Amino acid sequence: MALVLPDLPFAKDALAPVISANTLEFHYGKHHRAYVDNGNKLLAGTELENLAPEEILRKVAGDAAKAGIFNNVAQAWNHSFYWKCMKPGGGGKPTGAVADRILATWGSYEKFVEELKNAGATQFGSGWAWLVLDGGALKIVKTANADTPVAHGQKPLLTIDVWEHAYYLDYQNRRPDYLAAFIEKLVNWDFVNANLK
Ligand code: MN
Repeated sequence: MALVLPDLPFAKDALAPVISANTLEFHYGKHHRAYVDNGNKLLAGTELENLAPEEILRKVAGDAAKAGIFNNVAQAWNHSFYWKCMKPGGGGKPTGAVADRILATWGSYEKFVEELKNAGATQFGSGWAWLVLDGGALKIVKTANADTPVAHGQKPLLTIDVWEHAYYLDYQNRRPDYLAAFIEKLVNWDFVNANLK
């Protein structure tokens, strides 16, 4: 199988009350699982099925005839990455190399948070907010629907899922409150630092 549903790196109730077990039951157990299952069905028997997901994404990006493959493989990849961006008791100011890079790029942690929240809040409809490395520079970007920096030569360091399924059970329409809570209480800066190396 080209795509695998990884175990969650925490118990389903470990992120509450920021993200409830109920949200994770659906988000991981239904949505992520469906992207993996549907992606594998679409890849089966094609010349793509033995490639790494990152290679598949770079190959089929922009090919309208392979949009179904792109969307499911990208969503499988994005979600596997998203779970690792969170940990119970995480969030707040970063430490390590990424802290220095954020200060050098945005001048302050507060300015970085403002820009990241703004990217997530202004993504119209479904999508993702990201901290990426782009040609060696730290950047905050947003992508629509399944789209992913992996397909565009950028290296993801951190992501926040802003599809409604990520937050609606806990925050209803208050996406900015979900973004603020994610940044203050969940970010796994150890994972971000590992990605930066
Ligand atoms: Mn999602």
